Amino acid sequence: MAILVTGAAGYIGSHAVQRLLANGKRVVGLDNMERGNAGAVAALRELGGGAFAFEEGDTTDRLGLERLMRDHEVSAVLHFAALSLVGESVERPLDYHRNNSLVGLLEAVRECRVPRLVFSSTCAVYGQPPTTPVTEDAPFAPVSPYGLSKLHGEQVLIDFLEARKQAKSKFAFAALRYFNVAGCDRTGVLGEDHVPHSHIIPIVLEVALGKRERVTIFGEDYPTPDGTCVRDYIHVEDLVDAHLRVLDALGNGERRVYNLGIGRGYSVKEVVESCRRVTGHAIPADIGPRRAGDPPALFADPGKVQRELRWSAEITELDAIIESAWKWMKANPNGYSV
Ligand code: UDP
Repeated sequence: MAILVTGAAGYIGSHAVQRLLANGKRVVGLDNMERGNAGAVAALRELGGGAFAFEEGDTTDRLGLERLMRDHEVSAVLHFAALSLVGESVERPLDYHRNNSLVGLLEAVRECRVPRLVFSSTCAVYGQPPTTPVTEDAPFAPVSPYGLSKLHGEQVLIDFLEARKQAKSKFAFAALRYFNVAGCDRTGVLGEDHVPHSHIIPIVLEVALGKRERVTIFGEDYPTPDGTCVRDYIHVEDLVDAHLRVLDALGNGERRVYNLGIGRGYSVKEVVESCRRVTGHAIPADIGPRRAGDPPALFADPGKVQRELRWSAEITELDAIIESAWKWMKANPNGYSV
């Protein structure tokens, strides 16, 4: 029996594999290596020994998935694999809808009778929510093909669950709506290595590394306390911890949906300040125009997962989150590629 982690060579997927292995689980990782890191797979092989298997493959390849699920007796799927860049999704919507489709994966789940699946969803399903903090019943209003592809994923899962119930199957799933995932494994083994970096914390840290001269803050005229956008940064270790808790809690036939955030927002200026404190580098910053589609403030109401599963994030100080990212970037200035 093994847990299938799709996107296992990616930032969040690799951290999930690490945690599962630490908890004594057997894991089979899958990644098409379009964005995955071979260095992360190598690190996981070292950590996991015989408890970790890895295959290169695509989650849209139904027959390949069925073979893998049977070979490894897969008992649950953590489905992280996806294209996940909002801006890119606007330019390449069809790639996002094809690649992020759950149809092939769920056909394989049905054929192989895999009983549980946890789906990586996103707060992008809410678009620009009318109020913050954001609860799970906020209206769906994705503003990008990425957000829409994830909302479709959730809705396909709901239809699939109903059909599985009719067939007397025990299938259950959770959709976890991530806010801004940040930080790295605090032991320093795994990191965040996107080429090019797409998120604010690694971008700002690249200035401290000397790989970028300055950072541009996208707008300071938002209706927020310091005029810059506010986001909820959840540490990747907390995020994967929540997945394990949810997976354990999923009862037969259940559907669970949770926001995953810390429930507190930090502004872009606070992120830059924290990076300055953590790195000791001056980090020059300019103010630029707003970036299209950025909601002014987005942070989670984490009450539902707290109440139902007694789970909440432990690493909630921005400096601690950024310290963990900095530790890995400083030790691996060229990312996983040596
Ligand atoms: N941001 C910025 N400069 C950058 C990159 C991002 O000011 O070079 C801002 C962005 O406008 C947003 C916040 O940082 O308000 C977080 O952006 P990120 O792309 O990390 O995540 P998002 O919230 O878009 O998912």
